[in-house]
Amino acid sequence: MGLATRPLLCLCLLGALTLPAASEWRTKIQRSALEHVKSAQRDLAEGLVPRALAHARTILLPRDIRIAIDAGPADPIAAEALRRAAISAADQWERALGREVRFFWTDPSSAEVRVTFAPSVRLGGAEVAGKAVWRRGILDWGHGQADYTLSATIHVRTELDGRAFPEPAIRQTLLHELGHVLGLDDSPVLGHVMGPVDPSRPVSEPALSELESLLALRDAARQVEAASFLSLHDRPGAVR
Ligand SMILES: [Zn+2]
Repeated sequence: MGLATRPLLCLCLLGALTLPAASEWRTKIQRSALEHVKSAQRDLAEGLVPRALAHARTILLPRDIRIAIDAGPADPIAAEALRRAAISAADQWERALGREVRFFWTDPSSAEVRVTFAPSVRLGGAEVAGKAVWRRGILDWGHGQADYTLSATIHVRTELDGRAFPEPAIRQTLLHELGHVLGLDDSPVLGHVMGPVDPSRPVSEPALSELESLLALRDAARQVEAASFLSLHDRPGAVR
């Protein structure tokens, strides 16, 4: 069996801190994403409302996610196919989440998420479909001012065994890496967007269980956001 017919493990580097897992979501949701929700809940309980909101928004990502593509050495026709795959993958996640998150295509200098393409992507000596490094965090300036931050770099391969990596496989790789940006963890299941990429049978959309896990995470963050708004609203002197 040639390599082209074998699944490629999409090994991804985790940019955020690895924190203890303690949840039924542990196989589907990044522990660091779950930790942001716990921090949001803790900060809210302690009255640190701006911090609570910022932690919740590392999950909800209410601002447009600024994203850019570097097609690398691809010729113009191939570059257009890569761009098409990336836009399609981002749109898939937008639709899956009811447009609660939106990607805004921009230039690399102002992007939070950078997608680069290269003939080969390797990690630890192994050929992989893609890899990503990402970080989400909060900035706390004090005086009731806090905000969230997001950054990610995604690498996607364009060739395998001297042949073009199929566009649907490139698209799944992008779905997978953007899934990490949104908070999902790797899955061992072939047929899951967050599972290994099989170039001969790429996956075109998240499985119901993957979507449910992500929606549950977002619901938990949204509850903190709503409670934070109520808390701000009920403060003495708040404008009603
Ligand atoms: Zn991964």
